[in-house]
Amino acid sequence: MRVGICHCANCRRESGSAFTWYGVWPAARFESSGTTVQYRGQHACSACASPVYSLDAHEAEIKLGTLVEAPSGLVPTYELWVRRREPWLPPVPGAEQFEEDRY
Ligand SMILES: [Zn+2]
Repeated sequence: MRVGICHCANCRRESGSAFTWYGVWPAARFESSGTTVQYRGQHACSACASPVYSLDAHEAEIKLGTLVEAPSGLVPTYELWVRRREPWLPPVPGAEQFEEDRY
């Protein structure tokens, strides 16, 4: 459905990096296998603790850095919480910029 980047404090903390990069799919099209552990709505790998996805009734948000294939060809079309973007990190060309959340 969409690919984005988020610079918010929670995303920085959980990724251990300056932002998270994620893709959103319809929940009905999402399936997973293997074991995860849940923490605050996030599913993390039970072996390495990397956040992998979150899921609600409508959408599955997948952390794209966990994909095996790289580069993925998935390009962010928007950035959230840009007021928290590191000053050395330029905007993604063409990506819609949001000071905080989208809505
Ligand atoms: Zn965030």
